[in-house]
Amino acid sequence: MTQSNSEFDLIARHFARPAANAVLGVGDDCALLNVTNGMDLAVSTDTMVSGTHFFPEVDPEHLGHKALAVNLSDMAAMGAMPYWAMLAITLPSVDHAWLSAFAKGFFDLAGEFNVSLVGGDTTRGPLALTVTIMGEVPAGAALRRSGAKAGNDIWVSGHIGDAALAVAHRHGRIKLDEADYNDAVMHLYEPIPRVQLGQALRGLATSAIDISDGLLADLGHICRLSGVGATVELSRIPLSGIAVKHVETGAGLTAIVAGGDDYELCFTAHPNSRESIDDLQDMLGVHLTRIGQVRRGKGVSLVGSDGKAVKVDGRGYDHFSGS
Ligand code: ADP
Ligand code: MG
Repeated sequence: MTQSNSEFDLIARHFARPAANAVLGVGDDCALLNVTNGMDLAVSTDTMVSGTHFFPEVDPEHLGHKALAVNLSDMAAMGAMPYWAMLAITLPSVDHAWLSAFAKGFFDLAGEFNVSLVGGDTTRGPLALTVTIMGEVPAGAALRRSGAKAGNDIWVSGHIGDAALAVAHRHGRIKLDEADYNDAVMHLYEPIPRVQLGQALRGLATSAIDISDGLLADLGHICRLSGVGATVELSRIPLSGIAVKHVETGAGLTAIVAGGDDYELCFTAHPNSRESIDDLQDMLGVHLTRIGQVRRGKGVSLVGSDGKAVKVDGRGYDHFSGS
């Protein structure tokens, strides 16, 4: 957008906040960041487009939270410490009530993790949000997708599936009762990025990823980049009370294992690390569950308690599949 008074006012009013972590934050041509010696700079970007990543009528406060949360989750998956965020926002029109609710959701979460908004861009067009997050990780210590070894355990944090069950309900593929929907949809709107967990897993996990596209698809990325296969036992996947009611239906199972939007961490570790990982549960107040094993070979198999393959329709969200 060419610089206009209203754009300047919009940024000043909603997005220019003191940037505690930065040499220079919002307002100049660039932000200035002081990067610590001996640390690698970790950088990631995620875009959210109205109608693709969120329902157009979503509460803007939830959207502000989520736009940052999905980026913090990438930091978590690398074991990095987030410090700085950039926000590129495309808006159909200037609606100050909408913007202040959005900013509240964004800055409330930023405050929880000591992240400063140090810059961005503001343009007119169909509603879309791009957040870039930057942080630090001790040089060489980042958790990558490529380190899984045959014989490693596969773990996930929290429980899996509620966010996708809420989406499946909205699309009419399953039916949640009202209380269950209200509960499940909060996992969709306000995922909790596992930032402390990611950092605690440095030196313990051999690989990690955050679950955005679905457990099977994201674990599949670990497998592909690590040159291994994985076997996951359906009965071990940690489910909420809501998910338990739907896991035995085809559409429910698909949502749970292939639906995504959980922003939990999936990681692998040597069996010798089991006790240390168990200890993290109490320290961090997050459930950690072993759901299977890394093996030689390729691909992710989902098996029942009888060891037989479980069939799942659709294996995770791919924006360009079928195009
Ligand atoms: P330029 O014309 O140099 O691109 P802009 O007018 O786009 O500068 O932005 C002015 C300042 O406001 C810059 O520091 C930029 O990073 C910041 N900024 C613009 N939009 C946002 C936003 N949505 N959130 C945070 N900072 C923003
Ligand atoms: Mg600009």
